[in-house]
Amino acid sequence: MKGQIGVTTENIFPVIKQFLYSDHEIFLRELVANAVDATRKLQTLAGTGEWKGDLGELKVRVELDEKAKTLKIIDRGIGMNAEEVEKYINQIAFSSAGEFLEKYKDQANGIIGHFGLGFYSAFMVSSKVTIESLSCREGEKAVFWSCDGSPEFEMNECVKEDRGTTITLYLDSDSEEFASKSRIEQLLGKYCKFMPVPVVFGKKTEWKDGKSVDTDEDNVINNIEPIWTKAPSELKEEDYMNFYHALYPMEEDPMFYIHLNVDYPFTLTGVLYFPKIKERMAIDKNKIQLYCNQMFVTEHVDNIVPDFLTLLHGVIDSPDIPLNVSRSYLQSDANVKKISTYITKKVADRLEDIFNSERETYEQKWDNIKLFIEYGMLSDEKFCERALKFALLKDTEGKYYSIDEYKASIEEKQKDKDKKLVFLYATNTEEQYSSIKACRELGYNVLLMDCELDSHFVGLLEQKIQDCRFARVDSDSPSRLIPAEEEIKPEMSDDDKKILSELFKAALPAGPEWDVEAANLGENEAPVLITQQEFMRRYREMSSVGGGMNFYGSLPQMYTVKVNMENSLIAKIWADRENTAELLHQVVDLALLSNGLLKGKALADFISRSEELLKA
Ligand code: ADP
Repeated sequence: MKGQIGVTTENIFPVIKQFLYSDHEIFLRELVANAVDATRKLQTLAGTGEWKGDLGELKVRVELDEKAKTLKIIDRGIGMNAEEVEKYINQIAFSSAGEFLEKYKDQANGIIGHFGLGFYSAFMVSSKVTIESLSCREGEKAVFWSCDGSPEFEMNECVKEDRGTTITLYLDSDSEEFASKSRIEQLLGKYCKFMPVPVVFGKKTEWKDGKSVDTDEDNVINNIEPIWTKAPSELKEEDYMNFYHALYPMEEDPMFYIHLNVDYPFTLTGVLYFPKIKERMAIDKNKIQLYCNQMFVTEHVDNIVPDFLTLLHGVIDSPDIPLNVSRSYLQSDANVKKISTYITKKVADRLEDIFNSERETYEQKWDNIKLFIEYGMLSDEKFCERALKFALLKDTEGKYYSIDEYKASIEEKQKDKDKKLVFLYATNTEEQYSSIKACRELGYNVLLMDCELDSHFVGLLEQKIQDCRFARVDSDSPSRLIPAEEEIKPEMSDDDKKILSELFKAALPAGPEWDVEAANLGENEAPVLITQQEFMRRYREMSSVGGGMNFYGSLPQMYTVKVNMENSLIAKIWADRENTAELLHQVVDLALLSNGLLKGKALADFISRSEELLKA
């Protein structure tokens, strides 16, 4: 018989063909998924006793004829009789495909994994599609259905021995790329790797007499029981590592893993891994794969998990993530919100657990997960509250502390006149060597904050930890970093202050802004000390990492130049300023040098002046 397909649109095939040109390949996932579903339905019926036949071997077979350019998807599932083909294929499937296209034709790119096209996605790549099906119920007749892409179809009785359905695609001339064994292998690997029924593509091969030949053994392309479907108690560390390397053959061992497993109020399973990360630049964000009942959907999970978690690798499987909706809609979906909250909580639970029970391992791996945790704390309020317990601080000697431990350890020595706890830190142990050394000599501890997010992170900690402030070791003279009392400035007239300022500014290089001030730093301290105000420096750094504070980013570098009036050299220069220009220059250059600020011609001048002085 012939019939008219139940669609409203005149002819939806041209639309299906154009639909997402680059994503034509999803047809294979849709068809294999249907075959898997039909097989699972039969297993269920057999399980409940509603169907009493012999299940036999339940495999889905994909068969390619490269010459004839046909592709078959064969299952031994429940099958369909003529009425069912009429209902599910001619009416329902077609109308839902039509509806889908109508609804999303303008925003097809935004549809997650392009679900919903189902069976009719076969027409994206075929000039003709046929179905041969024999229902599993006794006494049914086999049915043949064929459609060449016009709204008309043909449906007849046919001969078919085995129960189940065979879909045959006659690949069209635009889609000959799919008439290739390696292309189909690649697609099966991408979309069907973990489907829950064995999927067979050809035979396993072996090397014989110098060439590859087929064996008798079916080539099953999928793992029907990936580890996320199992209970954590059944699995060993090794299983998690093997699975990771199967997913990402090129990656180094991950730092930690988290097994997700929840069935209320939504169903979600999965395994997430913390990759080894050192630099934000080196992070590949599209590494979490989203599955729906073991069927690959997408690796763009950015609207499903919080941004910082997209740094993780692994698999999430949930039938409760709405898939045939646009990305912008996803974010407002209640289930998606719950899922995102759940994953964040699980990640925090796991980290806290490792922090408590495997402290040594945790410390060893800290440097590689620090960026991830800091990013999470900066971007997610809830995660931050949790992470304050297990985030570590590392000092310049390589010792690790939790925030509470660190507070306790500096409590005694590092409180200033305003009763604030002062966290001293260095961002570079080489460049700030002399300041670090001076701080240690004063009995202070110095943290190392050399990660690219640290300038933001320091600001965050100042908000979260009560009565504390952070100061970089070179932000003031060592003795003034944690002042016990107000600074006593030398007594000088305003005129003298101005003269002093101009005298020194004349010896300083052009470019940065120099704020010269007289100070009493003690007679044994350096004659001149150059510091950079903590807040100005931090704002500049944050705007360079992209903190949006461009006003500060565009300011010139500003330094404070403290002239130590108690130092004998300064006393000499000040008393005889008309005749000590060379000495002044030398003293200023030494201060610049110890801050890494003496460069180019100024540095060359300094060297030749020093040589002259040595000869004298
Ligand atoms: P969906 O799978 O989303 O329901 P499809 O268009 O892919 O939409 O399929 C429509 C219906 O056709 C299915 O729900 C199922 O009842 C039937 N069907 C498709 N493929 C098969 C198959 N291989 N075996 C049995 N029934 C099938």
